[in-house]
Formats: sequence, C-alpha cells, structure tokens
Amino acid sequence: AENPGDTRFCGQCGTSLFSTHTASEEDALEAPTRTLITSTNKIRIGANFADRYHILEELGQGGMGRVYKALDTQVDEKLAIKILKPEVAADEKSRERFRNELKTTRQISHRHISRVYDFSEADGQSYITMEYVSGEDLKSLIRRIGLLTPGKAVFIGRQITEGLAEAHRLGVIHRDLKPHNIMLDKEGNVRIMDFGIARSFQKTGMTDTGVIIGTPEYMSPEQVEGKEVDRRSDIYSLGIILYEMLTGRVPFTGDTPLSVAVKQKTERPVNPRKLNPQISPEISRIILRCLEKDKELRFQDADQLREELDTVEKALPKTDRVVPERKTRGTREITVKFSLSKMFIPALVLAALAAVTFFGWRILAKRDVVLFAADKPSLAVMHFENNTGDANLTHWRKALSDLLIADLSQSRFLQVLSGERLYEIMEELDLLTSSSYSSGDLRELAERGGVRYVLVGQMTKAGDTIRLNTTLQEARTGKVLGSEQVEGEGVDSLFSLVDDLTTRIKEDFKLSEEKIASDVDAKVEEITTSSAEAHRYYNEGMTYHNRGDYTKSIPYMELAVAHDPEFAMAYRAMSVAYQNLGYQNEADRRLERAFELKDHVSERERYYIEADYYRRSEATYDQAIAAYEKLLAIYPDDSVGNNNLGVVYNSIEEYDKALERFEVNVRNRQKNYHSYTNLANIYLLLGRLRKSEGVSRLYLDEISDHPQMRAQLAGILMRQRKFDEALEQADKALALNPSFPDAIATKGNIYFLQDDKEQALAEYRKLLEIEQPMANLYARNVLSNFYIAQGKMALAEEQLLEGLALAEMMGEKGWVAGMHSGLSYVHALRGRSQEADQAGRLAVENARASGSMESQRKAMFTRALVQVMLNDLEGARLSVQELRQVDAQGLNRRAVRHVYLLDGLLLSRDGKHDEALEEFRRAGELMPMLDGARILLSDAMGETLW
Ligand code: ADP
Ligand code: MG
Repeated sequence: AENPGDTRFCGQCGTSLFSTHTASEEDALEAPTRTLITSTNKIRIGANFADRYHILEELGQGGMGRVYKALDTQVDEKLAIKILKPEVAADEKSRERFRNELKTTRQISHRHISRVYDFSEADGQSYITMEYVSGEDLKSLIRRIGLLTPGKAVFIGRQITEGLAEAHRLGVIHRDLKPHNIMLDKEGNVRIMDFGIARSFQKTGMTDTGVIIGTPEYMSPEQVEGKEVDRRSDIYSLGIILYEMLTGRVPFTGDTPLSVAVKQKTERPVNPRKLNPQISPEISRIILRCLEKDKELRFQDADQLREELDTVEKALPKTDRVVPERKTRGTREITVKFSLSKMFIPALVLAALAAVTFFGWRILAKRDVVLFAADKPSLAVMHFENNTGDANLTHWRKALSDLLIADLSQSRFLQVLSGERLYEIMEELDLLTSSSYSSGDLRELAERGGVRYVLVGQMTKAGDTIRLNTTLQEARTGKVLGSEQVEGEGVDSLFSLVDDLTTRIKEDFKLSEEKIASDVDAKVEEITTSSAEAHRYYNEGMTYHNRGDYTKSIPYMELAVAHDPEFAMAYRAMSVAYQNLGYQNEADRRLERAFELKDHVSERERYYIEADYYRRSEATYDQAIAAYEKLLAIYPDDSVGNNNLGVVYNSIEEYDKALERFEVNVRNRQKNYHSYTNLANIYLLLGRLRKSEGVSRLYLDEISDHPQMRAQLAGILMRQRKFDEALEQADKALALNPSFPDAIATKGNIYFLQDDKEQALAEYRKLLEIEQPMANLYARNVLSNFYIAQGKMALAEEQLLEGLALAEMMGEKGWVAGMHSGLSYVHALRGRSQEADQAGRLAVENARASGSMESQRKAMFTRALVQVMLNDLEGARLSVQELRQVDAQGLNRRAVRHVYLLDGLLLSRDGKHDEALEEFRRAGELMPMLDGARILLSDAMGETLW
C-alpha cells in the first residue's frame, strides 16, 4: 500500500477524501421556514437550538461541520456547539464510539486542553457541546504575521506537549492536531481543542469508504496510510506545527490533498533552517526528529519532547524568550488635531516609499535590438545534447552551457549571450526539452538573442570517458567556423574540459595568439565552483532566481554552498534574493561571505560583489561608484552595473546621473523591469509625469505585462488625477497577481484621493492578508499613516505597535527603528512628551544597531522634528548635531536638505523668521520638485514615517 488514500472517498457525496463537501449552503440562509436546522446544516444566528442554546454567532467551519458560539440558557454560560455534518454523523457505530470516547475525554482536565461537554442529537442533527475558547487560533496568527520567533514558537510548542502528555496518559490521542485546533489567548497561552473527536468519526483501513477527518498537511505517514495511530502520530503533527510556526509554511504541500498525503510518506522535509536561518540547529534537529517517517525514530512521548523544548527555551537569549505581553491597549480613541498632519498626502508619501529596486543578474535585451558592438563576435552557447544514454547526466546539458558561458564571458574579445536570456528564448521557442536543434531553431534563437554565432555541443560517453564535441557556426548561413573535441574521465573532469574548449573556441573565432594570450581567462572552476553537485544546485536555484521566485531559489543556493562553502556566486545570489525580499540582515550576511571569497569569481562578478558590498553604507558609496565605473568601462552594456549604479546615484539624489544609467538599459530594451521602474520613478519625482507614463507603457507594450509596471502606471495616472484609468491599471495588476502589494496600496491611494476613506481603508487592509512578513510590515506602515492622516492617533499607534512587534520578531532593526519613529511622532501628536521622547531614543538606538546610515538619518531627523514639536529645542539641536555627524561627508543631498530644514524650524522657533526662510530656501533648492514648503514638509515627514 504505497499509494495511500486512493480508495477513500466520501461515502455520502462521493467527493474525494479530503475535499470540502459541497452542498448549496447559500440556499439555507434564505429558507423561509421556522426550522432551525436546514438540510444543509446551517443555523440561524439568534435562534434557539435544542430549546436550550441561544446561537450567538458562527465561529467557523471545519471538516466535521460548523461551530457556533452559543449561550446555554439553562446555566447562563457561553459555550461552543459543533453541529456535525450529516455524512460525518450518519453512522450509528461512529456515534456509539464517540459516546464511549467521551467518557475518557471528559476526564482530561488540563489548563492547555479545552473541555468537551456533551454529545447529543436534536432536530435530527448530532452535535457536540464544548467549552468556548476565546482568542485567536494559531493558523490565523501564522497567516497574519507570517512566522513566529523561535522564542514564541517554542513557548507555544512546549505548552502543547504539556497538554498532549496529560491526554496521552489517559490514552486519548488527538489525531487531528493542527494550528486550527490550537487557540491562543493574548498572553500566548495555549488551549488545544477537539481532543479525541476525530477518532470516533474516522474510519481506518484501506477498504473503508468513510470520511477521513483530518488535514493531510498535518497527518503522519501512518495516518495517511490508514494504519494504526498512536501518541507518536500526535508528535509528528506537532512537528509540522513547529515547522510551520517557524518557517511560515508546512513542509509538504501539493496541488491535491492526495499528493500532500503521498509526500508525508515519501518526501524528506527541507531543513527548516534553510528557510529561516534564525532557527537554531537544536530546534531544527528537534523538528526533524518529530518528522521522522518511522515513528520509532521520533520522540517516543510528549514528555521527552517537552524536555528538549525546555532545554532549548532556556538556552534562548533572554530577549528572544516570550515575556508577558504588554498591557492591552484601550480602544478609546483620542483625536488630536495638529496642523502638520493635514500635510500628509499618502500618494506623495508612497512615491517616496516606492523603493528603487535592485536586481542581481544579467538579463539581456529584446529581440530587435543590436545588442553587441559590431566589432566583437557575438555568440550563443546552446544546451548540450546528451548522447550518453545516461539520464543521470541530463542536468549537464544546461550546466555545460552555463559553465562555457561563464568562462567565455570573461573574454574582452567576445560577446556571449547570458544563460538567463538564452533560457528565456529557448522557453519561448519551446526548445528546453528538445534533444537537438534544427537550423531553423538556431536561426530564430540567434535573431532573438541578437547574436551572430551559435555553438552546438554534444556529450557522449564510453565507459568512464566523457567526450564533448562542439560546432561553432554562423546562425544565418549555417557556415561552420570550427569543430572541437575534448575528452576526460568522469564528470569531475568536465570543468577542465570547459577550460580547454574555451581556448579552442577562441581559436575557431580566429582570434590572434596574442589576443588569446592577453585575454582574461581564469579557470572556470576558479570563477564558479569545482563541485559538480554545488553547480547543479546553483543552476537549479538560478532558474527560480531569474523568475524572481526568491523563496524557492534560496534553499537551492543553501544546498549549493553546503557542497562548496567557497562558492561566492551562490552567496551573492542569496544576498540579492534576500535583499529583494526585504531581509536586509540576511542579505548582508551572505554578501559579507561573498566579499571574502571575491577572488574566486570572474572579473565581472567581482565588480558586482564589491559594488554591492560598498553600496551598503553611504560612507563607502564612492567605492561602490568606482567599482561600477570600472565594470562599465569593460562592459558598457552590463545591465546589472547600469541599473545598480543608477540606484546608488538615485539614493544620493544625483538624479541626472541616475537617469543616464537607467536609460542605457531601457534603450537596450532589457527584459528585466527594474530599470524601467526606476526610471519612471525618478521622472515622477521630478514631476515629469508624461515621461514617467511613457516609460511604463513602453515596457508594457514592448516587453511584457508585469504587475509591477501596471501598478506603477496606476500610480502615475493617479497623480494626473485620472482616477478611472488608474483603477483600471491597478485592477490589471491584481489580475496578474492578486496579492501584489504595490497594486493594492495604489488602489487604496486612489480611493483616498477621491475622498472615499472607507474604501481606501478596505484596500489598505488587504495588505494584511498577504502571507509575507515584509508585506505585513509595509501594511502596518500604510495603515498607520492612513490613520495619522485621519487624525486617528490611537488606531495609528495600534498599527505601529503591531508592526514593531513583527519587526522585532524578525530582527529587522531598520524597521524596528522606523516603527519607533512613527510611534514617537504619534505620541507627540497626542501630547505624550515622555513617551515620544522614549520612542525617539529607541528609534535612534535601533537605527544605529542596524548599521544603516539611511535608517540612522531617518530616525535622527524624526527625533529632531518631534523635539521641535514638543518645544524641546535643546534636544532638537543635539539631534541635528548627531544628524550632521552621520553625514559628515555631505554626499547625500537629501541629508543636507534635512539639516537645512531642521535648522530653519529651529530658527523660526527662536523668532528669527528671515533666517529661517533662508534655510528653507536652501533646502528647497535641493528638492527635486519646487512645490514650496508644503510639499517640502510632507516629503520630509513622509520619508521618515513611511
Ligand atoms: P477545524 O478545527 O478543522 O478548523 P472546527 O470545526 O473544529 O474545524 O472549527 C472551525 C473553527 O471554529 C475553528 O478554526 C475555530 O476558529 C472555531 N472554533 C472551533 N471550536 C471552538 C471553540 N470551542 N471555541 C471557540 N472557537 C472554536
Ligand atoms: Mg477544530
């Protein structure tokens, strides 16, 4: 029975075992009868059930039926009633089993287990009454905040083991342990629900056609197989829950419940540490032990697991442990009117937020452009043909092409189509799985890639000897420039074969001996990796990376560096991935490693790494710029170099220089959208709306339909007050990706500007539903600013506190600082000077800890501003001093502008209005848009708070 579950279908409605049973439930709502329960198991709120329970609200719906909160009118107490679906309770034997089980279940009395009261029938329905547990269930908590800190997860996990231990002692197995059945109160105290319920209504054995109760994502291998279940099955489910709390996802997912079930049996979970490096080796070892397929290898009982969790919990740094929650906040709203808040224009502020994006890989231009300078031969290296008859070597088809590209790309005298662009074109032409290429294919590919020559290779094998043959030809005419053959022993020799081929291919191009000798040509294993395995994982990861699917690419890169801990390119790829996901700390760690290893990469790659490294801090921006300049001197069309240099110029407000860089990429019609977005953003900032619109449309018309560009266009149209068109574009973005944060936020802004605050809020709130911690932080920001603009400070504060908790949990100090800054501003608006001061101090502290000058500047600027608001002029002067020190170089125009602005504010407080105006004027001169002090202020504030 290797294929679990295939015989199990619901006996009643015929749907497959795990799917939801569908009946037209909507009808029930309309039923004009006095019957409380309809045939579809739905009860009216406010009605009495079984003459005793007054139904207060529906709590939810699970696999067994619906759950209601009700008032027990006889004892005047609230409880929960679960009305079982007819198909679940149809079988008298099941009901009998449950009645028996209840005798034991009722004996369980434990602070972490919720009580089951009774099982009865009324109005032809079976129902279970149980303790009503208030709070939030763990599933919805995870959905809401993405993932939990190790401290919190262990805290919750340990409580679960305590409950399990007690139930297991009485011989009750939960069987349906999952986050939906774990309730948490505000302090994080656990109550496990539905103990022992699943068992009675669940049939075992492969031949039964009963309803399987349970969720395949959390079921142990023995359970999905219908084998006997014991306490160790609960341990397995708890392992999945721990995994999910700490990584934000369950280890096994699939398109169908069945495929998930199969994976429980057969697939090894990805080490959770790969998904969340904050997980310690001990915790991951514990989780993986819970998840052993063989129950003999798991923890044998809950106590054993609890002890391990205890130990881990004690070893956590104090700050990571769960401390009692802060006091609950009152909901009474205090509205403070303050003139500055009127100056908030979310649209503008969002423009400041719309971060300039980086990208980390070479992606070259579109078909109809001449990509390469005419004086250098241009070449595409096709995936090799595998004629060895050995399917284990299939991945070398692409790997050999990649290695040759890496090696040949070093050359000053050749232009080689990037592996990423090659892959895209092959995908477009449906060539990825072809075992050979026709001359028509090659012609088309060369045309799209803008190259003149193609290299076609074959791999053959005799015993251990592997032979590579290549043919270099002109794509259009088929004219052959040369054919080469090299051979070696085993796959490890392939690296040196690639080195040989590189030299020979240059000879085929008739490069002179001096040129070849003078050319840059490090051994391919020195610029990539000498581990075939590492290279394989790297390649696999890059296919995801190039699609922007970073959460998938990262685990592969981790595997690559596990095989070759000196694989610099893999570290850099991870650093870029983390950065684009918004995880600055993780990005920095990988980048530091790449930097240490920068002598093990190609020259181009080394400039990338250096530039990335120096770009992290404004203090070394000049070195970053120098690295990019050198790179571009050798490879003027390098799209990564052009984009990222533009980003650096942009962040110091050297807009003209930034424009120039992005324009190179746009002129080359490069596929990746980043430079288009960046260019459009700058035009927007400069008030050149038409230009900005043009760039966005160019991308959409000529390159591809991407939600980022749609969202961008929506924002630009909004700023032209073309609201209908803007909405249309935002909706198009959402059609492409329903949870695209920029599109959602822009939609909110559009409504906001049309004064539809309610609709705006509804849109902003959708950001909270995106299951990504970064999106959640973004949401908290957007929402807090929305409330500030509305003058609803209590609500703004609430959002900022949520954001703060999450940022702290994630260890993202820059965000922690930002949230404190926001809080200090809100406190100031509410007249709470002490709290404001305290928050301002925390903001600066955290910003310092983050190491980012940008964060420090923002925190200090807000601090000073808040101090001015609170009339603490002495404090403000000190803060301005600090701010000046951060930017001692005076490199950053924005920073300088902020200092002028603050000086102006201070002078005006001293009554020196003329001098103040002079400072404002100087600040204004450094502004990209000259819309006067109003925008100046809102811009400055916006940057700080958003
Ligand atoms: P599942 O556990 O599969 O989600 P249930 O039918 O047990 O399905 O419950 C559905 C939802 O109702 C739960 O996710 C929970 O939010 C809520 N719920 C269930 N039991 C209770 C209870 N005793 N007290 C409060 N809420 C409950
Ligand atoms: Mg439940």
